[in-house]
Amino acid sequence: MTLLDKAIVLMLPVVPKPVVQLFSSQYIAGSTLDEAVEVVRTLNGEGKLATVDVLGEEITRESEARAIAQAYCEAFTAIERDHLDSNVSIKPTALGLDLSYELCRENLETVVTEAARYGNFVRIDMEDSATTSDTLRLYRELRESGFDNVGVVLQAYLHRTPDDVRELADLEPNVRLCKGIYIEPPTIAFTGYEEVRANYVRALDALLDAGAYVGIATHDEWLIGQALDRVEGMDTADYEFQMLLGVRERRASELVAAGHRLRVYVPFGEHWYQYSLRRLQENPTMAGTIAKATVNRVLGR
Ligand SMILES: Cc1cc2nc3c(=O)[nH]c(=O)nc-3n(C[C@H](O)[C@H](O)[C@H](O)COP(=O)(O)OP(=O)(O)OC[C@H]3O[C@@H](n4cnc5c(N)ncnc54)[C@H](O)[C@@H]3O)c2cc1C
Repeated sequence: MTLLDKAIVLMLPVVPKPVVQLFSSQYIAGSTLDEAVEVVRTLNGEGKLATVDVLGEEITRESEARAIAQAYCEAFTAIERDHLDSNVSIKPTALGLDLSYELCRENLETVVTEAARYGNFVRIDMEDSATTSDTLRLYRELRESGFDNVGVVLQAYLHRTPDDVRELADLEPNVRLCKGIYIEPPTIAFTGYEEVRANYVRALDALLDAGAYVGIATHDEWLIGQALDRVEGMDTADYEFQMLLGVRERRASELVAAGHRLRVYVPFGEHWYQYSLRRLQENPTMAGTIAKATVNRVLGR
């Protein structure tokens, strides 16, 4: 990214919401479950798996958190009804983690129980570092209460990740490994591009050594290459690649054609704003286009 792009990225939060919505539409399936179902159907037709995310991280009330849990239960019904190949991904704050751990735990257990009823699976997303320990605790508690249909996420940019891999090892965990998207201080996170890549590869090796099922979530061609070297000769049922909706779709299709499992993250819902900002902030070509659109809008063109 150029310095100008970086400056524009910092300005994104003051960009008018309709402009953000316009440019983030490639990353969001829509605002309704029906729209998400259509996107999943298309992906499945291309041989890709999906994971559906009900966007809801801006919630502030218990009733909203319960409504998101209910929306996930409805998603399982639709997945089953339409014979789709999709699981779900959940942000703990959408289930109320910022309100109380117990509320989130209760909502999560409701969703995981419903998933189990359908033979489906729940991935607990990882959010900013204030939530890491609670999120790993939620995962352990669910696994220790007998739920095997649940997985978690580790972020390669955190210094603590190698320790977290070691601590999870006894569970033979199901882990999505990503770089990490939230802005964290250098005291707890690597900030250099190459450092994050190196920690990613170390964590991937450690997870595979521990017998984990790994969701290799990256669009970084170098990391995809490193992962392909490591999974060579493995049963393709023992790992999967993961990408975000609207990002590197051709590369995703190539991985499918080469026989790998590839899952696409499909977010939908009314609470699209925070998710969209994060996606736009990491899009190397979008910043300048957004700046022009914003200026045009401000000038009334
Ligand atoms: C399936 C999935 C689930 C995720 N879940 C989480 C999570 O739970 N917690 C979390 O903190 N992070 C999560 N992330 C985000 C992740 O941490 C990274 O921020 C994100 O994937 C970008 O890192 P990268 O490895 O793709 O490498 P980058 O170096 O950022 O990207 C490599 C290349 O991919 C392309 N690219 C990447 N992002 C975009 C974009 N938005 N638009 C257009 N092109 C793009 C560009 O060509 C870029 O050069 C998830 C990512 C994926 C794929």
